[in-house]
Amino acid sequence: MAGSKAGKVTPMMQQYHALKREAEGCLLFYRMGDFFELFFDDARQAAAILDIALTSRGEHDGQPVPMCGVPVHAAEGYLARLIKAGCRVAIAEQVETPEEARKRGGSKALVARDIVRFVTAGTLTEDALLEPRRANILAAVCEVRGKAGIAACDISTGRMEVEECAPDDIGAALARLGASELVAPEDWASAPDNAITRPRGDFGSDDGEARLKSVHGVATLDGFGQFTRAMLAAAGGLIAYLDHVGRGKLPLLLPPVAHSGSAALAMDEATRTSLEILQSQQGSRAGSLIAAIDRCVTGAGARQLADDLAAPLMDAAAIEARLSLVHWLHDDPLLRADLRDVLRSLPDIGRALGRVVAGRGSPRDLGQIRDGLAEARRLRDFLAARPDRPQLLDSILPHMGGHGHLVDLMQRALVAAPPTDCGQGGYIAAGYDAALDELRAMSGNSRRAIAAMESRYREETSVAALKIKHNGVLGYFIEVPARYADVLMQPDSGFTHRQTMAGAVRFNSVMLHEEAARIAQSGGHALAAEEAHFEELTAQVIEARQTIAAAAAALARIDVAAGQAERAADGGWCRPAITQDNCLNIEGGRHPVVEAALARSGERFVANDCILSPDDRLWLIGGPNMGGKSTFLRQNALIVLLAQAGGYVPATAATVGLVDRLFSRVGASDNLARGRSTFMVEMVETAAILAQATTRSFVILDEVGRGTSTYDGLALAWAAVEAVHGTNRSRCLFATHYHELSRLAESCDALSLHHVRAREWRGDLVLLHELAKGPADRSYGLAVAKLAGVPKDVVARAKSVLDRLEKGRAETGGLAAGLGDLPLFAAASQLQGKDADELRDHLDTLDIDALSPREALDMLYELKRLAGSTQT
Ligand code: ADP
Repeated sequence: MAGSKAGKVTPMMQQYHALKREAEGCLLFYRMGDFFELFFDDARQAAAILDIALTSRGEHDGQPVPMCGVPVHAAEGYLARLIKAGCRVAIAEQVETPEEARKRGGSKALVARDIVRFVTAGTLTEDALLEPRRANILAAVCEVRGKAGIAACDISTGRMEVEECAPDDIGAALARLGASELVAPEDWASAPDNAITRPRGDFGSDDGEARLKSVHGVATLDGFGQFTRAMLAAAGGLIAYLDHVGRGKLPLLLPPVAHSGSAALAMDEATRTSLEILQSQQGSRAGSLIAAIDRCVTGAGARQLADDLAAPLMDAAAIEARLSLVHWLHDDPLLRADLRDVLRSLPDIGRALGRVVAGRGSPRDLGQIRDGLAEARRLRDFLAARPDRPQLLDSILPHMGGHGHLVDLMQRALVAAPPTDCGQGGYIAAGYDAALDELRAMSGNSRRAIAAMESRYREETSVAALKIKHNGVLGYFIEVPARYADVLMQPDSGFTHRQTMAGAVRFNSVMLHEEAARIAQSGGHALAAEEAHFEELTAQVIEARQTIAAAAAALARIDVAAGQAERAADGGWCRPAITQDNCLNIEGGRHPVVEAALARSGERFVANDCILSPDDRLWLIGGPNMGGKSTFLRQNALIVLLAQAGGYVPATAATVGLVDRLFSRVGASDNLARGRSTFMVEMVETAAILAQATTRSFVILDEVGRGTSTYDGLALAWAAVEAVHGTNRSRCLFATHYHELSRLAESCDALSLHHVRAREWRGDLVLLHELAKGPADRSYGLAVAKLAGVPKDVVARAKSVLDRLEKGRAETGGLAAGLGDLPLFAAASQLQGKDADELRDHLDTLDIDALSPREALDMLYELKRLAGSTQT
């Protein structure tokens, strides 16, 4: 490119473009000496993201070629930032030296380059690019004969799972996984927007099955579980992508686990977002549920906890098993502290294993696996000796041993603290390999011989300042200050001149040369011997990968339980009782995140009860803004979630009737992020609840209906409450500022009214954050406005407007005046005849997600027109 003429394409440019084509939409890091260079649009994009200088180099088609570069030694940091910004990067390395290139193609030959790997958000294994406390998930999704298949893996630890679900549930399944990268077949119309598309041929179920078998070296997958065609097709797509990204080298993959949607508490994306389970609405871990409860002392434990919270269980026995372990550790603080001390010092063997299998392992990784496994075995012996241990440990502990042979081998083979870099050697322990010891002794002897030579030369030449030194260019040499050089310059001195420096002159001697050669040779041989041992050990670790990963998982499970116990002991949390009834009985419940935030500013959280049963399953909660309604709703949803994840809960007592689906909705305020109007968002999300919630579900609805005008909003809220109460019959908490809804208590027998208490005291509003029975007496909107600092005269003006309005309401019977004799929801929803069919047909063909706000509005008009024709 340098010096290229306009219109002429240089060989380097040709090479660059060929590689860029191969990079398929990834940024191309093009290795030139000590830099990775980026050109053209890649350079513009990267320079903007990385905030580095955009320069240019040569010309292409008469235009200067934009360029920017990052030094190879610092590339990881830059990669991390590019990946975070949503880029994918192809790394093109020089695959021959300039000398080799010259030998091959003459003095002007271009060094051959090749893409050696792709770095993408879902396929990272570099420690520096991964967050220790978060799993990094790559997922593949596809559809086979009307079923969706999803395969996901965390290649930093090798965990892999597959799932089949209805195409409509893809969103919820992906929300649980929280993948950082998603792939889907290229010609699939319903592929999620953010998916990277791959050739359709990658997603064949037969191929998927064959690849899984070959990865795990088995003749049948039966030993791993039952897999459907859709699952296998997705697995095929996943492995094909990993193969592509790793340029034929597959990372660590453990046998796939079939995830069954019905085994876990289902939550859709909107619910996960609104409950801020793994991240807050701002997208950070701070402020999320996990940040408030995570007391794990290992990264692996924190990752396991995130998994537990993302997929709470539905199986009472499995929940109780986890709870018993937490209970045991909760009641024995000394044991817990000891255990946590041991766990804290453990290396992250899961991720070390991931690097080793990915071919990027270092001696240090092997050392970590050795130390981790040795500690796991000690922990197993310690826990196995406790007769009072809970049952779950009996299934966990066996995984923590059985590596004795490997640990012994690595203890003998490796030094205590092996380095991360193989290049310098020195990681294989003395005494492991006699031949290696001998090579080391030889080079040691030679070093001693050189030291002896130095003092002998000093005597012979009478130059006390004579030194034997070593550098990368000359190797070993003899150096004397310039003023003594003459002695050594004598023809018969036995020294040969090599280099004259400013103040010193350097020489060689035959003896030194021979000794140096011996060192180089034995050192080279020693390095080669160490490398051979390293490869052998690596192979053994890879061979044992499944049992090592199982040990890592066992340690993580213990860490999660100990962390939960610690959190519970700290916060005075209780063990929930789990039942099969459709009840929820929470006494003294608290919101862990809000409580922690209040505690930081020295305030106290007011605990509240929530008692739902089949006869009183829907609580309508009123009261002033800022009164604590949202907090109450969420704390109860979170308590259900925490309980079913197998942990203690922030309450004084709790009985949780198993929940199959959890829904959380917040009335839309300014949620235009997804290009839908707020009203549409509310409609779509409410529709999902009405379609999916069952008698075993738990629904929290926070101010649903506020995204539209008063009448529409009230009507929507009214209808939604009726439907959840009468049709879905789920347990439900519904917060609203519409007083009018309290009239629903007259027609809905399992609905009761509650409110958050507030008092006006000397003209000021005092929010008590305390839940009480009965409807809210008034909304205190003006008092809240005053509290929020709205100017006095504005509040006063509002007061006079309000008085007028209230007077009007008293005279007309208010907003809900006409609702007294409204037939119940179920009766009203029975549209009949041809028109109803037409309306239904219309609705059936409607793909709400595909509508723009404008189209949605048009559609509403159309639906209204159709419905209108029913009445005429
Ligand atoms: P609402 O939904 O009624 O508008 P929120 O639930 O958003 O009210 O609560 C508003 C604020 O009140 C919270 O940010 C919190 O600081 C405080 N708060 C809520 N519930 C409690 C409680 N139980 N105890 C103490 N403070 C609370």
